[in-house]
Amino acid sequence: MKAVQFAGHGDTDVISYAAVPDPEVGRDEVLIDVKAGALNHLDLWTRRGLPGLDLDMPHVPGSDGAGEVLEVGPDVTRFEPGDHVALTAGVSCGDCEYCRAGEESLCTDFHIIGEHTDGVHSELAAVPEDNLVLVPDHVDWETAAAAPLVFQTAWRMLVTRGQVRPGETVLVLGASGGVGHAAVQIASHAGATVIATASSPEKLEYAEAIGADHTVDYEAENFADAVRDLTGKRGVDVVVDHIGAATWGDSLRSLAKGGRLLTCGATTGPNPETDVRRIFWNQLSVIGSTMATPGEVDDVLSLVWDGTFEVALRDVLPMSETGAAHDLIEHREGFGKVVVVPDSEYV
Ligand SMILES: [Zn+2]
Repeated sequence: MKAVQFAGHGDTDVISYAAVPDPEVGRDEVLIDVKAGALNHLDLWTRRGLPGLDLDMPHVPGSDGAGEVLEVGPDVTRFEPGDHVALTAGVSCGDCEYCRAGEESLCTDFHIIGEHTDGVHSELAAVPEDNLVLVPDHVDWETAAAAPLVFQTAWRMLVTRGQVRPGETVLVLGASGGVGHAAVQIASHAGATVIATASSPEKLEYAEAIGADHTVDYEAENFADAVRDLTGKRGVDVVVDHIGAATWGDSLRSLAKGGRLLTCGATTGPNPETDVRRIFWNQLSVIGSTMATPGEVDDVLSLVWDGTFEVALRDVLPMSETGAAHDLIEHREGFGKVVVVPDSEYV
């Protein structure tokens, strides 16, 4: 079969689409005929290399994907050939104190398929049953592939960790990106007033179309100043920040007294300066979140499959153009998810 792969870390030119041996199907694994995969910022970090990330090379990336079940291992009970399935990439051990408490994304051995182990951006993939969800037949492959990682991340962050309530005001930064567009919709669904930031009139219009009540062009004005104006100097109850260094200070400045800063990523860098006085004097909470539990994944995906939440597709490319797909994400063009499909399936 063919698979996206890289033999070493570096720029997009390390990525190739080339033949590798077909996967072997373990006892608890499902063999999938992959129809679509989706990219995340994580794919860019994995390609570039991260401290402590020691991969077997060549590495096959891909933490989001969907396809049809071809074959199941003898211990698989939930799936059969012909089922439509999507990957949910978080792997937990099942018996540490956090797993036993039902907090799988806190697992002491937590890792992510496609980041720490081979992913699914390939023609075939063998995946543990526990890392698959059933997809209703009416859902298209691109949507099924693009939803799981960002929607589970945004759901746990806002609903479970952030406890967003009706009547609160939520600021979502980078509303046109994968996590951002999920966060706008989830905050709106939770009954909050949503302020969204983005960098162009088209992206702002899109943010409004999916539920933002107010929008701020962060390239035209400082978003913390805009939030002060929009809220009568009060600030917002919750900020969703997956951007990190570039926005951290203004995110803290945007919060009302007692506000919560939710963080699930740092695409612009991990070491922002923090004015600690602002945190204690205003009694702010900084709340981290990553991925989700299987129950949270089921909850949010049921709302994707029934159309409550919309998965924006920025572009669909053949897997052989994965390098170009990384560039689209890096340069923040367009809104929503970048999808890749096996070249043999690309029309
Ligand atoms: Zn565990």
